[in-house]
Amino acid sequence: MIKLHNNLTRKLEEFTPIDKNNVRIYACGPTVYDRAHVGNGRPSVVFDVLVRLLRHVYGDEHVAYARNITDVEDKINQKAAETGREISDITQETTGWYHDDMDALGVKRPDHEPFATAYIPEMIEMIQELIAKGHAYPAEGHVLFDVRSYEAYGALSRRTLDDMIAGARVEVAPYKRDPMDFVLWKPAGDGPGWESPWGVGRPGWHIECSAMSRKLFGDVFDIHAGGIDLQFPHHENEIAQSCACTGQDVMANYWVHNEMLQVEGKKMSKSLGNFFTVRDLLDQGISGEVIRFVLLSTHYASPMDWTEKKRKEAEKTLRKWRSMTDGVVAAHPSLEVVEALSNDLNTAGAIAALHGLAKSGDAAGLKASAQLLGLLDDHMGDWVNAVDLSIYADHLLSLRDEAMANKDFSRVDNMKTALLSAGVEVRMSKDGVDLSAGSGFDASKLEGLV
Ligand code: AMP
Ligand code: ZN
Repeated sequence: MIKLHNNLTRKLEEFTPIDKNNVRIYACGPTVYDRAHVGNGRPSVVFDVLVRLLRHVYGDEHVAYARNITDVEDKINQKAAETGREISDITQETTGWYHDDMDALGVKRPDHEPFATAYIPEMIEMIQELIAKGHAYPAEGHVLFDVRSYEAYGALSRRTLDDMIAGARVEVAPYKRDPMDFVLWKPAGDGPGWESPWGVGRPGWHIECSAMSRKLFGDVFDIHAGGIDLQFPHHENEIAQSCACTGQDVMANYWVHNEMLQVEGKKMSKSLGNFFTVRDLLDQGISGEVIRFVLLSTHYASPMDWTEKKRKEAEKTLRKWRSMTDGVVAAHPSLEVVEALSNDLNTAGAIAALHGLAKSGDAAGLKASAQLLGLLDDHMGDWVNAVDLSIYADHLLSLRDEAMANKDFSRVDNMKTALLSAGVEVRMSKDGVDLSAGSGFDASKLEGLV
C-alpha cells in the first residue's frame, strides 16, 4: 500500500490507481534553453524513484510515465535572438544535454517524452473547445482563459482570485476581462508561430501540459508531479484548462510536489544566478550516483541544501556499499526499504534502512534494496575506480625533491607504502611519478594522505 501526500487535499492518502493495469503519472519536465541545474535534477530523481516504486508494486508494464519537454517558450526565443542560432538547434542540443545529464544521475527515460511543438494541433483544439464552452475568449490576436468562468480556480493553491490579484504582479493588459486571466494563445510577433483560427501565433506555457496529458492519458489520470514552484500558477492553470474543458472535477487524482533545492535559504534558480549545473558537478569528478544519493537523502517535501559535507558522506557510504556488494547477485528488496518508500516516498528512511542492511552484512538485500532507489546499479559504478590520482603524484614528487635535498627518504617511503596499501600501483622514475588504481584499489584509504 503506497501512501502519498496529496497536495490537492493537503492530506496523506492511500494511493488507489484508477486502473491498476494502467497507472499513469505525468511530471512537468524542463524548458530546453540551457543546462539543467542541480535543482532541476531533484524532481527528475525523486519522481524516477516514485516510478520505480510504482513499477515494483504494479508491474513494469502496468505503469506509464510521461515527462514533457517544453520547446516553445520566450526564454528559448530570447536565447535564439542573442546567439543568432536557430531555435530548433538550441532545443535539440539542450534536450541532448538533459538526456546525458539525467542518464548520469541514473534517471530512467520516461515512457513518453512529448515535445510541446509536436502537439500544437491538440492545443488549438483544446482552446477551441474552451472558447465554445464559454471558458475562453479571443481578444486582439490572443486567446485568454476566463478565470471567473471556472469556479474552482485557486483550489489547488488555496487562494481566492482577489488574494491573487492583490499579491501578484499581474500584467494588466487592456484586452483582459480580469487581471488574472491567462494566455492560452498569443500572436507570433518576432517569435515562432503556427497558423491558427486566431492568426499566426503560439501557445501560452500552461496549455501544453493539459493537451499532452489528455492525449496520452485521457481526461483524468493518477498522479501529476512537479516542483512546488509550479503549483501556482502553472498547475492551477493546467487544472482550470483541463477541468473546464473535460467537465471533470479533477485532472489528476494525486498532486505530488517536490520542495526546492536551495542555496543559502533561496531557491536555486537560473534567474537568481545562484545555480550550478549537474554538468558542473560531473566535470568536477563528482559521480552521478553520488549526486543522486545526496538528492535522495532528504525527503522530497522538505527544502534542502547541497553541501560539500553531504557530498563527502555520500561518496564514503557508496564506496563502502559498492565494495561490499561487488560481484554479489541482488536478492529481493527488503520490506523495510519498500515500506519506507511506500510511506510518502520516504527516501531518507529508506537510506537509513540501507545502512541497517549494510551493518548486518546482508549484501544481496542491500544491493536489491538500493537498486529500488536507483543506487548500486551495475552500470553506474565505474566512478569508484576512476579517481583523480594526480594530487597524490604531485605530492610524492615534492616529497622526493625534498628528500634529494636533505638525503632523508623516509617520508617518500611512507607515502609509497600508504599508496600501495590503498591498492595504488606506483611507478617512479627520474622523469616523474605514475600512479594508477590497481585491482584492490580502495579510495577510502587515501583520505588524509595529502
Ligand atoms: P524548469 O525547467 O525551470 O521549468 O524546471 C523543471 C523542473 O525543475 C520543474 O519541475 C521545477 O519545479 C523544478 N525545479 C526548478 N528549480 C528547482 C529547485 N531549485 N529545486 C527543485 N526543483 C526545482
Ligand atoms: Zn506542466
